[in-house]
Amino acid sequence: MNLSIPAILQNYIDGCFSDPLSGNFLQNVNPATGAKSEMVPNSNKKDVQAAVTAAEDAQEAWANSSAQERFTILNKIAGNIEANLDVLALAETNDNGKPLWLSKKVDIRRAADNFRFFATAAMHFSADSHVNLQAINYTVRKPVGIVGCISPWNLPIYLFTWKIAPALAAGNCVIAKPSEVTPVTAYLLSKICEESGLPAGVLNILHGDGPSCGAAIVAHPAIKAISFTGSTRAGKEIASVAAPMFKKLSLELGGKNPNIIFEDCNWELMMAETVRASFSNQGQICLCGSRILVQESVAEKFLKEFVEKTKALTVGDPLQDNQQGAIVSKMHFDKIVNAIAKAKEEGGTILCGGEVIKPTGRCENGNFISPCIITGLGPDACTNTDEIFGPVVTVQTFKTKEEAIQLANAVSYGLSATIFTQNISTANFVADKVEAGIVWINTWLNRDLRTPFGGVKDSGVGREGGWEAMKFFTEAKNICISQQP
Ligand code: NAD
Repeated sequence: MNLSIPAILQNYIDGCFSDPLSGNFLQNVNPATGAKSEMVPNSNKKDVQAAVTAAEDAQEAWANSSAQERFTILNKIAGNIEANLDVLALAETNDNGKPLWLSKKVDIRRAADNFRFFATAAMHFSADSHVNLQAINYTVRKPVGIVGCISPWNLPIYLFTWKIAPALAAGNCVIAKPSEVTPVTAYLLSKICEESGLPAGVLNILHGDGPSCGAAIVAHPAIKAISFTGSTRAGKEIASVAAPMFKKLSLELGGKNPNIIFEDCNWELMMAETVRASFSNQGQICLCGSRILVQESVAEKFLKEFVEKTKALTVGDPLQDNQQGAIVSKMHFDKIVNAIAKAKEEGGTILCGGEVIKPTGRCENGNFISPCIITGLGPDACTNTDEIFGPVVTVQTFKTKEEAIQLANAVSYGLSATIFTQNISTANFVADKVEAGIVWINTWLNRDLRTPFGGVKDSGVGREGGWEAMKFFTEAKNICISQQP
């Protein structure tokens, strides 16, 4: 398979590669070096229409294909992702700035896992029946039809495939758009799908920005469901367009997740997981524990060790053996730098990091920030309420579990929460009261693809994962047969 990356990326519509009809392109940039890389189509509603026409032509045959056929193709795509792991990982790192070891260990493997997991889901998915003396009810789950999948830049192919794979497994045709900031692995995925025997028009991958391409997908009347992962801001815009059209909506949005540390925790485990939860992927994971809440009795000890461990993290060239790579774009880098300045203005104390790093050599123009720990700010400070989405955490203290819960719930977001304690009653009490869709106890980002994934409050609507995703991408029809003679 030829997985070379051309200088000009193309859309994948109806099984063919094409330029955007407008002729408009965006400039892609390597965030670790600042060097210009590929040109990226900035598709608009005309390209979306072409993709919808292709999907309409493909829809009936794909919806009526057997589970075995869908399993075989999706499983082949998984295998081809694995077979090209090194090429995909390098592309992801050059596009996103994350360390190459992370792309290899997490992002690309997970993309293959997503396809394999939902390939088998296609084989096992079934619907209910409800029988009583008067009637037999059986439920049929049919594909929604044509669905839109829109994903962000932080885990590019990982999150893109997390949507596409269940949508295809359930028998839908898909119009998918990756982030314009990290388009390359999605382009390579279109090559892989072509080679894996996915019929033309079943998956159409369009490139472009939110206002031009994403908005056109959301607004197209033939696209009956939108699965979106990204910012709460964009999620609101999408809901305002899609809801009056009665589209099915799954919105996975921002987070400002509490990491709650009790004095009786397993200290070493807590410390290792807290460093990981704070700064993995340069803190650019919606599930990062960006608000650390630590019990007052151990706060001093915690801060001393946490600062030491954070200072020891190496930041630099993502192609070398560094723990932290580059921030995804100059625009996002500026946002993080401004957020740190705001924290100082608000009276916060920077215990370490937050400095702009200029590595020597090929990365001297890259976007690097040292991991930053901030203390001294109350729950109402913007630094503690607004998502920063970078290598920046705040630390607040609490005395009792009730106070911890109050602090944990003092934001508009409700994606995930992490609790460190060896007391099962404390763990259960806090897990029950914390406003979040996902709670981890004595671990972080410990994922089983069968579990429901999503947030409450401003972190979104709906759940992905396992049967939740298969249900989202299907419509239930109940059929009732009388048992009366
Ligand atoms: P973003 O909202 O700017 O963009 C996400 C995607 O939506 C991109 O493909 C973009 O082009 C598109 N888009 C933007 N505006 C649109 C519109 N009006 N209509 C249709 N499409 C539109 O987000 P981002 O900066 O790429 O990603 C970071 C955000 O994503 C953070 O807030 C983070 O918390 C969130 N996120 C959430 C999860 C989750 O599972 N909850 C996972 C990862 C990231």
